[in-house]
Amino acid sequence: MDGENLRKRGLFADTACSRCGEPETLDHILFHCEFAEDVWKAGPWKDVVSTGNSSTFKTLIQEARKWTNLPPNGITGNAFPWFVWSIWTARNLWVFENRKTTPLETSVKAITSQKKWEQAQSNRPETTTNRDLTPSLQLSLINESTIFCNTDAAWRSDQQAAGLGWIFIDRHTQVLHQGSIGQRNVPSAYMAEALAIREALIQASSYNYTDICLRTDSEELARAITMIRRSTELFGILSDIDSLVFSPSSPFRSCAVAFTPRARNGPANSLAKAYLVSFLGLRP
Ligand SMILES: [Zn+2]
Repeated sequence: MDGENLRKRGLFADTACSRCGEPETLDHILFHCEFAEDVWKAGPWKDVVSTGNSSTFKTLIQEARKWTNLPPNGITGNAFPWFVWSIWTARNLWVFENRKTTPLETSVKAITSQKKWEQAQSNRPETTTNRDLTPSLQLSLINESTIFCNTDAAWRSDQQAAGLGWIFIDRHTQVLHQGSIGQRNVPSAYMAEALAIREALIQASSYNYTDICLRTDSEELARAITMIRRSTELFGILSDIDSLVFSPSSPFRSCAVAFTPRARNGPANSLAKAYLVSFLGLRP
């Protein structure tokens, strides 16, 4: 995750910090807000970390490599990304679910999540090379065993129903599995696309795929998942996707979400459309 990049994409335009009312920049949320400063101060490091006004994402991510963890915390890797993630999650809980967490709770959450994740990694011998990578960095991982999955959704506004389609392809473009299902009470096309991705992840785990690259022709959605952006509408479903991919018990070793142009997503689109038609008992 790159702070500049997030900012350039306008994620924090014109909004005020829900805690203190200052302009809500990424650096503010993560470092400069009094809440964030207190979280970092409660961190596991030998020296107290100060994230005062002059520090930025870029300078801190570099400095963090030199921070030494205190042994009793039981974590070995760089805790910086886990603190970023925990503060970000606390911000989202506050903004979207009105749930308050204290700086200490947020700090403890970062450490326990990291500890769980590190333990899960060490139980899986083939992941040793990924050990120092945080979940968000893993998003950019594509390797030889990566299975690609094109997903798409067809949606009918009058019926509030969607057909969801997915096709798993190996790196030699051989089709491994494909499928489709229908779902009712889907309020938008965007939601339908997100449901297709979630379904594809569930299917992928049932086939024991560990490295997966999902492709969607919704550029906005690909960005939402990759950039951990959260619209209120999709918050629940994106949280589901997060926990499928990033929880310590996640079946996935790496997971990427990529945008693919509609023209190259034809087969998945046909599956989704065909299912929706039969699902609703319509004539094609
Ligand atoms: Zn603030």
